[in-house]
Amino acid sequence: MTATSPRRVASLMAAIADTGRDASRGGYTRPVYSTAELDLRSWFVAEAETRGLDAETDRNGVIWAWWDAPSGDRSRAIVTGSHLDSVPGGGAFDGPLGVASALAAVDVLRAQGRRPDRAVAIAVFPEEEGSRYGIACLGSRILTGAIPVEKALALTDEDGGTFAEHSRAAGLDPERMGRDDERLAQIGAFIELHVEQGRGLIDLGQPVAIGSSILGHGRWRLVFTGQGNHAGTTLMSDRHDP
Ligand SMILES: [Zn+2]
Repeated sequence: MTATSPRRVASLMAAIADTGRDASRGGYTRPVYSTAELDLRSWFVAEAETRGLDAETDRNGVIWAWWDAPSGDRSRAIVTGSHLDSVPGGGAFDGPLGVASALAAVDVLRAQGRRPDRAVAIAVFPEEEGSRYGIACLGSRILTGAIPVEKALALTDEDGGTFAEHSRAAGLDPERMGRDDERLAQIGAFIELHVEQGRGLIDLGQPVAIGSSILGHGRWRLVFTGQGNHAGTTLMSDRHDP
């Protein structure tokens, strides 16, 4: 166990470099519960089990791989991880970097002889991107109850299939999905390493940074009222343009 962590991350990333490649767009297309994403989920579980981590998929499809403390207590765990689904033609590092680096971090800590005195878990969230059903962070929204589960289950992809149907096909029971307080109580802290998708780090000349604030990202629906009319012949005094 002498490889450095960047080399470990690179070798983990190399193992999934052919999964879900998008020949027409370039990059990767790995919608949640597609063959490509399911292959990545299996890859993650296998990597976790190789390390002796206890991998389990919860009732909402979130995968958790546990490195237990000697006490076996899994409350207030340090959770890290990311997502394995992608947007159409997404980048190789968007999501998988956070998963691969978490596995590599466990390797490095173990090689240093460390044992956690609080449980550590690596989590993989489904449909983070929202590229299949149109709502980003769907897995964590369902887990936290930020979206009513009936609404989530009825979401459809572009082929008209529902999230409920695809979840069932992936081995989950839609009847059991929804906010999970027991699971949430296990999360003491959450840390995600994510590839930067701008050029901030390049301009700073830094390899990594900690986000100290976050953009209030959102989507709004605005309704403008008024009346359209002929652009040339309507008098200004008669116009009620939206
Ligand atoms: Zn991402």
